[in-house]
Amino acid sequence: MIRIGLIAHDGKKPEMVSFVIAHKAFLSGCKIYATGTTGGHIEKEGFQVERLLSGPKGGDAQIAALVATGDLDVVIFFRDPLDKHPHEPDVQMLMRLCDVHNVPLATNPRAARYILLGLEAERDLQK
Ligand code: PGA
Repeated sequence: MIRIGLIAHDGKKPEMVSFVIAHKAFLSGCKIYATGTTGGHIEKEGFQVERLLSGPKGGDAQIAALVATGDLDVVIFFRDPLDKHPHEPDVQMLMRLCDVHNVPLATNPRAARYILLGLEAERDLQK
């Protein structure tokens, strides 16, 4: 099962909700980890979610730790580039660890869409 980490900054939560609704068929077959508040929004759409701490309280760092230990296959992190974030060091750490461990990271909906299309194609090839 594909293990996916989902995070959205406050200004991007509506886009995350639209994204998970648009990709419900695929995402329902994934193990979803999400930061606290983002996870709450996703759960409301009917998904099973492993909810971590809220981002500013360490949730991004928990996602980063899962990347470091090989427990996530992909991270979708809708960052808000027009706002300031107290946990910016954690955000940087997460992005760095995705690169260290060659884990695909999407920071906006179109990139995320292409990653899911790629994962779907890869999964179909393995059938
Ligand atoms: P949240 O955290 O899902 O708990 O809002 C996201 C973030 O700001 O990193």
